[in-house]
Amino acid sequence: MTQDLSAYWMPFTANRQFKKAPRLLTRSQGMYYWDDHGRQILDGVAGLWCVNAGHARPKIVQAIQAQAAELDYAPPFQMAHPKAFELADRLAKLAPAGLGHVFFTNSGSESVETALKIALAYHRARGEGTRTRLLGRERGYHGVNFGGISVGGIVGNRKYFGTLLGGVDHIRHTHDPARNAFSVGQPEHGAELADDLERLVTLHDASTIAAIIVEPVAGSTGVLLPPKGYLQRLREICDRHGILLIFDEVITGFGRTGQPFAAQTFGVTPDLMTLAKGITNGSVPMGAVLVKDTIHDTFMNGPEHLIEFAHGYTYSGHPLACAAGLATLDTYADEGLLTRATELGGHFAAAVHSLKGEPHVIDVRNVGFVGGIELAARPGEPGKRAFDAFLDCYEQGVLVRTTGDVIALSPPLIIESEQIDRIVEAIRTALRRVA
Ligand code: PLP
Repeated sequence: MTQDLSAYWMPFTANRQFKKAPRLLTRSQGMYYWDDHGRQILDGVAGLWCVNAGHARPKIVQAIQAQAAELDYAPPFQMAHPKAFELADRLAKLAPAGLGHVFFTNSGSESVETALKIALAYHRARGEGTRTRLLGRERGYHGVNFGGISVGGIVGNRKYFGTLLGGVDHIRHTHDPARNAFSVGQPEHGAELADDLERLVTLHDASTIAAIIVEPVAGSTGVLLPPKGYLQRLREICDRHGILLIFDEVITGFGRTGQPFAAQTFGVTPDLMTLAKGITNGSVPMGAVLVKDTIHDTFMNGPEHLIEFAHGYTYSGHPLACAAGLATLDTYADEGLLTRATELGGHFAAAVHSLKGEPHVIDVRNVGFVGGIELAARPGEPGKRAFDAFLDCYEQGVLVRTTGDVIALSPPLIIESEQIDRIVEAIRTALRRVA
């Protein structure tokens, strides 16, 4: 039976091309997917940067099954269930000191919207309601909702969507291949790019700026690492001007960079941190915002019977997501996964950097279990060469991801050295074959 694929309008997908040659995944286990032809596919991207403990892990599967039978849903407004508190407590303990409060959402995009709203409401609550401007960074990706695309810096995600994107500004991105190409780990050059925030303070005045949001490592615009000292400098400038620093850790959270969070890897603590993806190992949609205690406490004034923050989702802290989240954190802890990218990071770095010198490769970037292999664009067809390499890898039974002309790797944290080698060899073969 051939399935009718026409009704489903697929997200971020070239629908017409896909439906001519569909790639349908039907099963998953550990490091592997299987497709509808029964072919085994090694997962080099943890699904979509989310299945950090590998697929179909028994503890998580059992927790979801048991939770669905015990308590399927509990309203989160003026009501709750115990696992939401338990998960919030566990997340706060995993986070850098001071980020002791957790607001639950259902995705990375919702976490971003929530963090931006907390920033605005916080300044208002402490009597500085003129701080309404939100800042982001060029090439930033913060999901697809209006707040996120406004502070985001990807033109293709912004240009169609009209005038609601106002009230924001952007500092410049940190990508500098002329000085930093083929850096192993954090690039040496570019800490001074954080000073671009001073330019915006001079332009708008600090009294109008609520917050700046950045990804510690930008994933969706091609694996861009923070230069050494850059995040520290951004932190200092924010402190100097009373601007909240938001780290979007939707992809960097949960062990991706070798520590539970990139804030710990790079030694810089933000005021707010957005999470999603690895929070439930990708098994049930969930996001969260970690909030500094002092920010949270600012809201806890006024009459006790009043709602302190007019925000929330029907599925905030959903019981299935909380059960999955708790079992996920147990799995990470039992297997030491949140620091595994530190232990095996040397092998991963050597493997991805061995692609230097292969056809089309103009840069290789890495941190923890994140790799970016940038290809020269084929003239007149930006992104096509990398996409061809993706298709070639898929034919070889290896799933990678491309963004523009960058091949991005973010394997499950359970990956073994031989599997790292297999992914890199598949890319090498593909690069030697694509035009
Ligand atoms: N923020 C960052 C840094 C992301 O990488 C993503 C997704 O890849 C998001 C936000 C959006 O998350 P979601 O797709 O769950 O809404």
